[in-house]
Amino acid sequence: KWLAGIDLGGTSTKLAFLSLCGEIMDKWEIPTDHSEKGRNIVLNIVKSIDRRLHELGEGREKLAGVGMGAPGPVDHATGVLYNAVNLGLRENYPLQAILERETSLPAAIDNDANCAALGEMWMGAGDGAKDLVCVTLGTGVGGGVIANGHILQGAGGAAGEIGHITSVPAGGAQCNCGKTGCLETIASATGIVRLAMEAAAAGEKGRLADMISNTGIVSAKDVFDCASGGDAAATRVVDEVAFHLGLALANIANTLNPEKIVLGGGVSRAGDLLLNKVKEQFARYAFERVRETTTIALATLGNDAGVIGAAWLVKKRLS
Ligand code: ADP
Ligand code: ZN
Repeated sequence: KWLAGIDLGGTSTKLAFLSLCGEIMDKWEIPTDHSEKGRNIVLNIVKSIDRRLHELGEGREKLAGVGMGAPGPVDHATGVLYNAVNLGLRENYPLQAILERETSLPAAIDNDANCAALGEMWMGAGDGAKDLVCVTLGTGVGGGVIANGHILQGAGGAAGEIGHITSVPAGGAQCNCGKTGCLETIASATGIVRLAMEAAAAGEKGRLADMISNTGIVSAKDVFDCASGGDAAATRVVDEVAFHLGLALANIANTLNPEKIVLGGGVSRAGDLLLNKVKEQFARYAFERVRETTTIALATLGNDAGVIGAAWLVKKRLS
């Protein structure tokens, strides 16, 4: 038997078939269809799964269950997706029930960042750790907290939203959540680009500033590339990102003392340049026992963490 793991995103949906041991047998991606009040989202996913199974000479009976990570807070117990309006869905969308109805298979859902955390715990950098904090540095900053092998859900499904820790208490940039000064406004790809643009506007010189004046825009990757090439303005941006991230992670670790903190998402591809600076700041703000027992590592599953964690969810439900 296989498990189907699905990572439902705002623009595209990643799908995979996995063995019961978490090995990816097949994976692919489809666009997410927001039209018709999101009515096509699940239908397209199910159609795509059936087509793929057929191509592989299998039928739906090959699947033991379907797991899905979805953007936004999820009520884990009832499988309801809150704030699903980004996807064109109505509020409090019973995603798990609809998935079960359309596939006639057991289904389980959770927040996408939580799924990525579970994926890293099961098959990635978590390496069997049962107390794990995962941070996803992408367009936004997502997070998942695993305590004793369980994802922390919180009272409203909003636990682990590390991106909305306040890093700048007054005068910070506007965040998507409605607040200002959130970690996400600094340590996400969007935040990094904003800091770079601000540095150039403030008259900083060098390669980063030249790129901005030539093309009008840079990516987070450009900022890290410039910093590793020794550009002073880019280095200041990276230092600021690392300061706020290291401080927030130290505060989290001072509370939870996880075995590992795993950094994932596109920005974490900056690798050691980011990791070493974050570790340095972390060491300033974590107290001794925490410094000695909590380690920070880079995620190892890349874009597959979400589908792997989603499969783990339904495997767990079946066992
Ligand atoms: P999403 O939240 O849309 O899934 P990703 O997690 O894929 O986003 O992250 C995309 C971002 O990662 C881009 O803005 C890109 O600039 C950044 N990125 C990609 N590679 C690197 C790198 N080597 N160093 C720093 N940032 C990177
Ligand atoms: Zn926020």
